[in-house]
Amino acid sequence: MRFISTRAEGGEWFSASDAILKGLAPDGGLFMPESIPCLPDSFTLERGAWYAMYQALIPYFEGDELEGDLEEICRSAFSFPVPFHSEGGKDTLELYFGPTAAFKDFGARFLAFSMEKLLEKRNEDLTILVATSGDTGGAVASAFHGRNHLAVKVLFPKGRVAERQRMQLTGWDGNVSSYEVDGSFDDCQRMVKEAFMDPDLKGLSSANSINLGRLLPQMAYYVYASSIYQLKYGEEAVFVIPSGNVGNATGAYWAKAMGAPIKRIVLACNANRPITDYLETGKYEPRPSLKTLANAMDVGAPSNIERLFAMFPDIEAFRDNVSAYSVTDDEIRKTIKEVYDESGYVICPHTACGERVRRDHVAEPYSVVVSTAHPAKFNDIVEPLIGREIAIPKNLYEIMHKTPSSVEIPADYHLLFS
Ligand SMILES: *Cc1c(COP(=O)(O)O)cnc(C)c1O
Repeated sequence: MRFISTRAEGGEWFSASDAILKGLAPDGGLFMPESIPCLPDSFTLERGAWYAMYQALIPYFEGDELEGDLEEICRSAFSFPVPFHSEGGKDTLELYFGPTAAFKDFGARFLAFSMEKLLEKRNEDLTILVATSGDTGGAVASAFHGRNHLAVKVLFPKGRVAERQRMQLTGWDGNVSSYEVDGSFDDCQRMVKEAFMDPDLKGLSSANSINLGRLLPQMAYYVYASSIYQLKYGEEAVFVIPSGNVGNATGAYWAKAMGAPIKRIVLACNANRPITDYLETGKYEPRPSLKTLANAMDVGAPSNIERLFAMFPDIEAFRDNVSAYSVTDDEIRKTIKEVYDESGYVICPHTACGERVRRDHVAEPYSVVVSTAHPAKFNDIVEPLIGREIAIPKNLYEIMHKTPSSVEIPADYHLLFS
């Protein structure tokens, strides 16, 4: 299996392992499979979620140096359940049973275990730099904690992340260090960029959501979940996916192209409208992000959009395959309350975007809203709406009770290495 850049006109290609270690293609594009493979004949649901996901990943690692390690990587990375909340066909896929209670655990963990194996084989070490304003940093820190040959430096803006998020960024020791930067999130990102450009610093890498190693597992859980759903209801589901950088949704498009039983894919966006406006006007215009209640989707220039454009190159093809709707903060609040009042089910603000879109725009009786995070992560928004406290799930509780440790530094990247 070969991977090419979204920007390359043919020619250069890469193995999955090279793509995972590089992150970004040398021409600045994103890695795509040369052609999307079919599900292997050996695909089975009989050995549980992690095994089904492993089967879905096999064709992408054919002939790769990780081919023989893939089963072990999947068993280690996907070590938590992937359940549905069932409502007679209008179901919700709960992707939040990983260590940091959001779907990013799948990608971050697969990437961490894959990199560890590759570095072990090559006898090399890497330091991962992450600038974070919240969720990503916690998932990456947790996934890479304790992995050999890897160190992580997490940078976050002092005083600007929620207390529960701060705990997830600072509750680590060993190979994970966290830095509270006296500055903004943009300062943190600038420090990471400057470090990457410093010729004296070697062995640095990133764990961005555009990394192939984070995207492939997101394809794999759609293969698993759509197959389980079809087995249960005898129908293909419409998948409604809360989206920001559209990495999660890109995984679903790859799964569908492999033959997974997905009827169609609908993106649920917050007030950030680059994709909804593109569908309406035919002109794609990235822009600065707007702050919303679904803050992990506050993206004005989605980094994975290049992969969707590679699959659906013109506006007609895009419209044939992509639906997207935008949800306001008022609608997010209304939906969290509506769902709770109807059934007692509690959802996070991102999931609420998905549920709103299903209720207003999906006519089909068989659908799945993808729940991207546990509502307890967003207790300050959700609890006042439902009028009660949300119990903290075991996975979050464990992280929140680690001893915090972080270093406060001014916004100068040299201090990360002193
Ligand atoms: C990252 C994130 C999203 C957005 O996912 P993308 O892949 O960027 O589209 C949605 N919800 C939550 C909780 C997230 O952490």
